[in-house]
Amino acid sequence: MASVLITGGARGIGKGIATAFLQAGHRVMIGDLTGGEDWNYDLATEGEMAETITELKNFGNIQGVNLDVTNSASCDKAVAATVSAFDGLDILCNNAGVLASGLIEEFAEADWDRVFDVNVKGIYHMTRSALDALRASSNAAIVNTASIAGKKAGRTLAAYSASKSAVISLTQSLALELAPDGIRVNAICPGIVGTAMWHDHLIANQGETFEDRVRELVPLGRPSSILDIGEGVRYLATAENVTGVALNVAGGMVMN
Ligand code: NAD
Repeated sequence: MASVLITGGARGIGKGIATAFLQAGHRVMIGDLTGGEDWNYDLATEGEMAETITELKNFGNIQGVNLDVTNSASCDKAVAATVSAFDGLDILCNNAGVLASGLIEEFAEADWDRVFDVNVKGIYHMTRSALDALRASSNAAIVNTASIAGKKAGRTLAAYSASKSAVISLTQSLALELAPDGIRVNAICPGIVGTAMWHDHLIANQGETFEDRVRELVPLGRPSSILDIGEGVRYLATAENVTGVALNVAGGMVMN
């Protein structure tokens, strides 16, 4: 059974990814911030991480580690903790991400930098930290959480959409670069998932309900669940002939 490290795993989509791997018998380390850091909405807390671990322990072997993907030393420590807990690392899920919205002329430079530092450079740090361990695995994979926003522009989402396009491009470059090592690299592109990004930021700032947005935008008529995304990630991580793919799990919102 594989050893899996999931960044941004304390809640939301990361929790769905953890659930999908545990249900298939894999061992899971979730890495996340634990200080409830202030952003446009609150990021994960120690309490959320503890609750997720307690809940998911029913499904299998799960542990947690404090992680800031913008800090290379922290990434090294999270990888070392995973290798030590599970005797290796086979699957890295780069799922941590932040969102900020706003028109370009009003968009703070610090927000622009943070979106790219977490969403894009975080993958650079984590991948470099994990490479030796992944090379030592006989069946290694990386799955990056991009977004349909990386394929289709959204008004007020310039930084976020550009960062997620970068995630798709980075995924393809790494898929080529790491293929000779037998490491497959893919991206998942979720559509609308009812997490903090939507409820505490996008909807909170738009005066429309979450249900209205889903009705308007999703052909299949419902939001994606965290487990829908987790199952897509598990597929990408275990499909032995698949690399360089950016898979939409989005109820038909985007079809290319
Ligand atoms: P979320 O805010 O619940 O989860 C994001 C997690 O990333 C949080 O636990 C947060 O603490 C963590 N994080 C943020 N900065 C970090 C850092 N520096 N180091 C470590 N962890 C950090 O939101 P979510 O919707 O579950 O987002 C998960 C991923 O899915 C993100 O990459 C997001 O961009 C992507 N996504 C979400 C949606 C959606 O509709 N919710 C759609 C497409 C893509």
